[in-house]
Amino acid sequence: MTSFPQTPRTRFVRAPKRGSYDRNAAYAILDEAWVAHVGLVADGGPVVIPTSYWRVGDELLIHGASSSRLVRLLAAGAEACVTVTLLDGLVMARSAFRHSMNYRSVMVFGRARVVEAAEKEAALAAFIERVSPGRMAEVRPPSAAELRATSVLAFPLQEASVKMRSGPPTDPDDDLVFPVWAGVIPLRLRAGEPEPDER
Ligand SMILES: Cc1cc2nc3c(=O)[nH]c(=O)nc-3n(C[C@H](O)[C@H](O)[C@H](O)COP(=O)(O)OP(=O)(O)OC[C@H]3O[C@@H](n4cnc5c(N)ncnc54)[C@H](O)[C@@H]3O)c2cc1C
Repeated sequence: MTSFPQTPRTRFVRAPKRGSYDRNAAYAILDEAWVAHVGLVADGGPVVIPTSYWRVGDELLIHGASSSRLVRLLAAGAEACVTVTLLDGLVMARSAFRHSMNYRSVMVFGRARVVEAAEKEAALAAFIERVSPGRMAEVRPPSAAELRATSVLAFPLQEASVKMRSGPPTDPDDDLVFPVWAGVIPLRLRAGEPEPDER
């Protein structure tokens, strides 16, 4: 399926022209970003937990200590909403009202499955390879105890949506005479110079 099916909760209400259900667009965002926010209900109230993640095929994977609240709730079948965001720029308009941000974001709804022990090592290896291709062959592999202490959860990429904004501010003609700089300040996440561990 090249598109996610629209469901009642992924139907765009606000600014639908910025939305899409394109799977490739979603995967490109998921493969570029590094942090997901997992929103769920815990003890009667909402909680949103930022976490690292990676994608394997049509699943979004997260991991954590088996005792953590996030893992515990998801493993028990909690319904979640996961968002991933890339911030591309600050949109500086001529009016305060028209300021905006350029972005690409993905929202995923669903329940995660617990990745079984037999799949866990390969799933975690895919995370290290995502961080640095080829690294898994160089580092010490996880011990049995480390694998036991780590849970991996996989969200199906089935009910999802993409939203993007790009381009300049949308000032109406009447505002163009206002004498203030307007345009886009691009923002990018870039790797810096590696800092070797002294040990
Ligand atoms: C960096 C950034 C900055 C933003 N700043 C603002 C802001 O200042 N004010 C503001 O109102 N909005 C902002 N947005 C847009 C915001 O994410 C929502 O799209 C918007 O608030 C409408 O939300 P809603 O739930 O009313 O939309 P609805 O149209 O009711 O949402 C329905 C469905 O559309 C999909 N959807 C909605 N938003 C997104 C999204 N961002 N990514 C993927 N799928 C989505 C989901 O499936 C959602 O369930 C920003 C987004 C980003 C990424």
